[in-house]
Amino acid sequence: MLDNLLTKGLIQFQIECNKSSHPSQCCTCRQSFKLQEARVIACNAQGDRYGDLCTNCIAKGSSWLSNRIQHQVLQLSQAS
Ligand SMILES: [Zn+2]
Repeated sequence: MLDNLLTKGLIQFQIECNKSSHPSQCCTCRQSFKLQEARVIACNAQGDRYGDLCTNCIAKGSSWLSNRIQHQVLQLSQAS
């Protein structure tokens, strides 16, 4: 599954309406941030969510985000 993720670029981004005023933690830079009205969520093709993305990270672009998330998934798989 990890191989699929890395070779086929299966990381996707979902945009959802946010009705919560709670802060969230960015899944790539780990910073706490206030969610906007539209929240961006990173997930894979199976619909498993990695988490919310802050505006700073979104501004870096989808290829940067994909690389960053793939790197983290790889680290997680090596740690376990
Ligand atoms: Zn971030």
